Amino acid sequence: MTEQKRLRIAIQKSGRLSDDSQALLKSCGMKINLRQQRLIAHSENMPVDLLRVRDDDIPGLVMDGVVDFGIVGENVLEEETMLRTAQNEPTDCDILKRLDFGDCRFSLAVAEEFDYTGPQCLANKRIATSYPGILKRYLDEQGVPFSTCMLAGSVEVATRAGLADAICDLVSTGATLEANGLKEVEVIYRSQAVLIKSKNKLSDEHQELLDRLLMRMQGTMEAKESKYIMLHAPKTHLDQIVDLLPGSEHPTVLALAGDEDKVALHVVSTENLFWETMEKLKTLGASSILVMPIEKMLR
Ligand code: ATP
Ligand code: MG
Repeated sequence: MTEQKRLRIAIQKSGRLSDDSQALLKSCGMKINLRQQRLIAHSENMPVDLLRVRDDDIPGLVMDGVVDFGIVGENVLEEETMLRTAQNEPTDCDILKRLDFGDCRFSLAVAEEFDYTGPQCLANKRIATSYPGILKRYLDEQGVPFSTCMLAGSVEVATRAGLADAICDLVSTGATLEANGLKEVEVIYRSQAVLIKSKNKLSDEHQELLDRLLMRMQGTMEAKESKYIMLHAPKTHLDQIVDLLPGSEHPTVLALAGDEDKVALHVVSTENLFWETMEKLKTLGASSILVMPIEKMLR
């Protein structure tokens, strides 16, 4: 194969991670034409190609060095690593960054009426799941023998359909479990989306681009969590007001034209400002309190 001139990043084609993965890359300034239903999308302004595949394929593509990077759920990465380790296949890849989306837990759930007293009561039961490796590791540690019912989807209906006695599935709010008459009894793994990198050696130019993208990703993630807060504060209560603002060690204090008693306070806060805090600020005499989103941030 000739030397690759463009970086390759694998992302989920359609599913829970695809919109956030695309949004993250776009927020780094990458222009991507995703309108066509193509496997590969080219960035117009960076030497980067996006490979759009099923999430299950992403860890393998990275571990085999077919692509340089991937964005995938840690649960899928963990499962693939276990499978490959058992088959003596390469598992090389580095987690470069934990991302701020795709949060979920991998949990055991049983029917509402099941009298669950602990993992031991699943001994010799059949458990439906899409991620048998993580489930087996957990129950082996607990010393609980069981059998698997492997389902790539619709795991939540397995008990009602009489296919299994329990399920082990990804949960975020728990609404799907509840809608299917199930209760979550054990969280066995916590996952979020991660950016992973293959062992492929990067050229200096590609390494420089990666460093820039990582810095921009950090900037986007920090901006999402932060708020720009502006308010008018009475000089008499300035210290108490500053103490109430999260992460406001170095506020900007400005004079207010025509008002000797108050100053304008500008703060980049690392957290959201809740209504309760705003009400307390008001009690201390603050007025014109504005909380604004921040789009980008470079420290
Ligand atoms: P594909 O067609 O690409 O194989 P999929 O059906 O396997 O997709 P999705 O349901 O799109 O996968 O979920 C992708 C990832 O999103 C999961 O592996 C997990 O890391 C994360 N995720 C976050 N919340 C949830 C949830 N409530 N249920 C399932 N996955 C979740
Ligand atoms: Mg999948």
